[in-house]
Formats: sequence, structure tokens, C-alpha cells
Amino acid sequence: MSAVSIAVGAYLVASLLFILSLAGLSRHESARNGVSYGIAGMALALAATVGLLVHDTDETLPLVLLVVAVSVGAAIGLWRARVVAMTGMPELIALLHSFVGLAAVLVGWNGYLYDEGLTGSLYRIHSAEVGVGVFIGAVTFTGSIVANLKLSARIKSAPLVLPGKNMINLGALAVFAVLTVWFVVSPNLGVLIAVTAVALALGWHLVASIGGGDMPVVVSMLNSYSGWAAAASGFLLDNNLLIVTGALVGSSGAYLSYIMCEAMNRSFISVIAGGFGIEVASSGDTDYGEHHEISAEEVAELLADASGVIITPGYGMAVAQAQYPVAELTSKLRARGVDVRFGIHPVAGRLPGHMNVLLAEAKVPYDIVLEMDEINDDFPRTDVVLVIGANDTVNPAALDEPGSPIAGMPVLHVWEAKDVIVFKRSMAVGYAGVQNPLFFRDNTHMLFGDAKDRVEDIVRQLSDIPQQASR
Ligand code: NDP
Repeated sequence: MSAVSIAVGAYLVASLLFILSLAGLSRHESARNGVSYGIAGMALALAATVGLLVHDTDETLPLVLLVVAVSVGAAIGLWRARVVAMTGMPELIALLHSFVGLAAVLVGWNGYLYDEGLTGSLYRIHSAEVGVGVFIGAVTFTGSIVANLKLSARIKSAPLVLPGKNMINLGALAVFAVLTVWFVVSPNLGVLIAVTAVALALGWHLVASIGGGDMPVVVSMLNSYSGWAAAASGFLLDNNLLIVTGALVGSSGAYLSYIMCEAMNRSFISVIAGGFGIEVASSGDTDYGEHHEISAEEVAELLADASGVIITPGYGMAVAQAQYPVAELTSKLRARGVDVRFGIHPVAGRLPGHMNVLLAEAKVPYDIVLEMDEINDDFPRTDVVLVIGANDTVNPAALDEPGSPIAGMPVLHVWEAKDVIVFKRSMAVGYAGVQNPLFFRDNTHMLFGDAKDRVEDIVRQLSDIPQQASR
């Protein structure tokens, strides 16, 4: 059997492992297996690719370069994966997407510089692949860099609003179409440089134009783009595995973006088109009045008297690593006969499922952790809601203020409960940069400080309140 047949066989098995991996990742119970399938598929794909190169190459230099590149890349990847905090995961993922985009641009340029003597229609198809591959790759590259900068708060998450932003995006697409046709008819360096420049600018502008509240969709959208960029590279390199894997990532990322848009009541087309049709929101200088503070001791008393409590966690719980004292508070309240449940917003935190992972880590039972739609009608029957480090996901402006940047986004109706306790360190805005009128309502009490410290204070205070006196 030839080395090529062995590699093709290995690629086929790797593709199947990637499909099994995606299937596994779709459920809690099988997620660990899904990750194992993915690792096995990637190891097999790498081994087959390296094996093929070693077999085909007589020279030492390419092999040395390969070993150095793979070793340096693997070392950096291992180090980053070990040190990254879970809250930093989306920005790391965005950075990794930018690498896929950059790789696709380099593969495209390589395809132009070394066209392997193709002629006639084959050469024209090859040129089209180069143009499209470079375009998708460059959009993914700069788009992912902007996403990384926004997610790591190195640039503002508010949308960039250039005059005629929709026309800029549409114009860039039209220019790309014209340039690609030109490049296919007469492939030359100037046109390829122009395609690259237009795509780099478009990627930057597309993501910069999208507001903070829509960033979860942007991350999954860039995930999808990176898949299509990899598939385009697969065509250029004549590599079936890249085509299959790229298409899997591209389509699953697109589907995830669609589901997230549905959950957030956003138009899918509008988000992937860089906020197309979304109007600039009002600046939000409204005076909502005074807020009311509360102490940990008073919260403990409220909780001890409550019969139903809902906890709605958000990004601040993750930053403070407050999930462990929250789990302890939950079990103490349950031991006192209080009905405690969690309400999870689909985009709470900084990555899909973020809160579920943290609560599972702290051993909070699955059956009391409910999705937003399952719990939203229960707030009017609830005595106390603990909003622990959540802000945008509990903002009533999404329903009450049509001019708000988060208008239309479904939120947890926490304000309908008898008392709402908000845990945060200051009156600062949430990720979308929008003031939250919840904080100024009469039944809302602000408990300032680090969420972990404050929850621990409440747990301590609760131990001092005798159970019989509490009900
Ligand atoms: P937000 O990001 O809106 O707000 C978090 C709040 O936590 C802040 O108001 C902050 O206030 C508080 N906080 C931060 N650190 C601490 C701490 N140590 N102790 C106590 N409080 C703290 O959170 P949400 O989870 O409600 O919303 C998520 C937002 O992130 C949404 O806008 C969503 O669109 C976006 N997003 C979500 C992604 C996802 O996939 N889930 C991905 C990318 C973005 P203060 O500074 O005053 O303490």
C-alpha cells in the first residue's frame, strides 16, 4: 500500500472522529468522549500529514522547519491552554480563529506564487480558489483580532458607527466580486494585493460595527468563518481532510450563531452583516434616581425568612470565583427547607454554557439549574432573587427602552420577585455598556463588594440565625 493511500485512509478516519466529536459535544454526558474523539482525530491527522511529508521529501530543511514550527506551536498552545482562566476563553478562541484566517491568507498567496504550471480552465479555477480563500481568510483574520481586543477590553465593546456603515460593507463585497473576476481573467499581483487589503479592512469594520451585547454571536460567527477559510485552504492544497473539517466547523459555527441569534431575538443576517440595519442607540443618560444599599447581615435575614429563592449568576460570579460559596449557600438554604433554584441566561458570562460549567464544578445539582425560558414565569412567586455578578442579562431596559442597544434581547425578569439583591462592586455598567434601571427599583437592594466575599459573609451570618426562629 502506498504512503498516499495510507494517508488518505488516516484522513478518512480522522474525519469520522471529528464528526463523532461534534456529536459527543452536543450533550453534557457525552462531552468528555467528544473531546477525546477530537484529540484522537487531530493526532491522527497530524501524524498522517507529517508522515506524508517525511515520505515525499528528500531534503532536510523542510523537515527541520516542520519540526521547529510544530514544537514551538505546540509549546505555546500547551502553555496558553494551561494558564488561561475560563473567563479569558472567548478571547483566546478569537485569537486562535485569527491564526486560521492568517494561515488561509498565506496558503492563498502561496497558491498564487506557486501555481504548479496549471493552464486553461484549471488555472482559472485555481485563481478563483486563491481569490476566495484569501478573502475569507483575511476577513476572519482582522475580524478575529478585533473580537479578541473587544473581549479582552483592550478596545471599547460599543459598536463603531461610521457614516454609511452598511454601504461600506456592501461596497466592499461588490469590490471583492469585481476584483475576483478580474483576478480570474488576469491573475496579477496588484489585484491580489487589492483583494487582501479590501478583505482585511472589511473584517475589521464588520466586527468593530457590532455592539458588546451581540459579541457571543460574533465569536461563533468567526468560528464559522474560520471553518470556511480552512475549507478554502483545503481546495488549494488538494487536502480532503481540510475540506471536510473546514466544512464541519463552518456549518456547525453557522448553526450555533443561528441558535444564539434566535435566543437573543436578533436577526442572523443583520449580525453576520456587521450589524446591518441596526440603528444607533441612544446614549442612555437617563436619570433613574437613587439606589438602595443593603448589608450581608440583612440579606442573610431576608434569606432565612424566604421560602423561594432564585439565583441568577453572571460574569461577575466567574470573575470572583464565587461558585463555591454560592454552592455552600445553596445547600445551607436547602437544608433549612428553602426552595433554591438557578436561572441561567443563554449568554450569561463570556461563553455559551459558562454558568452551567461553573455550577457543575461546584457540585450544584443539575436539576435545580434551569434555563431562562423554564424559570422566567416564576419570578412573581419568588421571595428573594440573588443577582450574583449579572448585569446585561437582567436589564429591564431590554424590554422597556426601544432605543437601548440591548432592546429586544430576552432577559431574566428578576424585578418581578418580592426582593432583588444585586451583588457587584460598583454602579458600573455591564458588558454591553448600558446602564441598568433594575439597580434603582424600589425592591432592589445593592450589596457592594467582591461577590465571593459577600456570599461568604452571608453564609457566616446565616449560621448565626437559628433555624426555628427563621421560618
Ligand atoms: P455583564 O458582563 O453584563 O456584567 C457583569 C457584572 O459583574 C458587572 O456589572 C460587574 O460590575 C460585575 N462584577 C465583575 N466582577 C465582579 C466581582 N468580582 N464581584 C462582583 N461583581 C462583579 O454580565 P452578564 O453575565 O449579565 O452578561 C454577559 C454579557 O457578556 C452579555 O452582554 C453578553 O452578550 C456578553 N457576552 C457573552 C458571551 C457568551 O458567550 N456568554 C460572549 C461574549 C460576550 P462591577 O464592575 O460593578 O463589579
